Amino acid sequence: MEKVNETSKTQTTEAKIYAGIKSEIGTEMKLAEALEATKGTIFNIQHFCIHDGPGIRTNVFVKGCPLRCLWCANPESQMRAPQLMYRKDKCVACGACLTACPRGAIAMGTDVKVHTDRTLCTGCGACVPICPADAREISGYSITAGETFHEVQEDRLFYGDDGGVTITGGEALAQPEFTLALLQLCREDGIPTAIETCGAVSWEVLRRAGELCDVILYDIKHMDDAQHRQGTGQGNTRILENLRHLSRECACDIWVRVPIIPGYNDSEENIRQLSCFVKENLNHCSQVHLLPFHTLGEGKFEELENAPNGFSSHIPSGEHMERLRDIIRSFGIICK
Ligand code: SF4
Ligand code: SF4
Repeated sequence: MEKVNETSKTQTTEAKIYAGIKSEIGTEMKLAEALEATKGTIFNIQHFCIHDGPGIRTNVFVKGCPLRCLWCANPESQMRAPQLMYRKDKCVACGACLTACPRGAIAMGTDVKVHTDRTLCTGCGACVPICPADAREISGYSITAGETFHEVQEDRLFYGDDGGVTITGGEALAQPEFTLALLQLCREDGIPTAIETCGAVSWEVLRRAGELCDVILYDIKHMDDAQHRQGTGQGNTRILENLRHLSRECACDIWVRVPIIPGYNDSEENIRQLSCFVKENLNHCSQVHLLPFHTLGEGKFEELENAPNGFSSHIPSGEHMERLRDIIRSFGIICK
């Protein structure tokens, strides 16, 4: 049900990008006002980031993602709507949230202190302020592109020559209307722009993002289509095709990023195939980054009260990471 809704919403917003906003220009709203008023749902704005693009950056985390990576470090980003997070280690089982919930979604639990029926929960947040133990929190809030832009603007003194804004997620383009509006506002104000994308988006949206970005951080999870589907829920055909198009048709710099997940995509063969793909297809890829798997997302799956997905891996050794980077470097590609 979630997937169907998200797909239809995406089609609606994509259509609006090219028809809705443009039709408003020159009628009742000026372009800047229309862009500023564009709403999105994000779950964080982080300041002074140094790992997601050049220089010092402000990272905006958009909610929603078309993939379901088993190792996801931000599982609260996957759904587009705001979501309840519950920290059972903090909960003192006082029961106050049971009476606060207008949906009757919360009950005293057996395996946890209280249990929230996620099929009933709307993420309304009524149970959050009543909790005396700070055990409940809503991840995700509505904001306009204009409000986000003004928060980004406050950091511009720290950007130096090459810093700027990076829109990530979730998937930066999961809410294309919002992200493209924010990119355009930043671009027109001279703030350097970047997005991080998984590439599982429509080419038209990615192309427009490519025109508005200085850098695109493009994630590739696996070079094998079946393995990609197994780890993320989708094959990689469209993702690789979009990347080829992006390099051919847009002038933005591309940084390819690969999360290295031991036992899934850390074979030398997979990294060799990736290197060949970059070498043969990407004119505008200045560097490849290999990002070692970490376990920071594990607790968040619990906070969302998701059933365990059976996935397990481990942090790769520094030696193995360097061996994989050396393979990429042997193709004449800068790798970090
Ligand atoms: S977020 Fe709202 S619907 Fe969900 S459990 Fe809390 S009070 Fe109930
Ligand atoms: S109000 Fe907070 S501490 Fe009390 S039962 Fe609910 S989650 Fe636990």
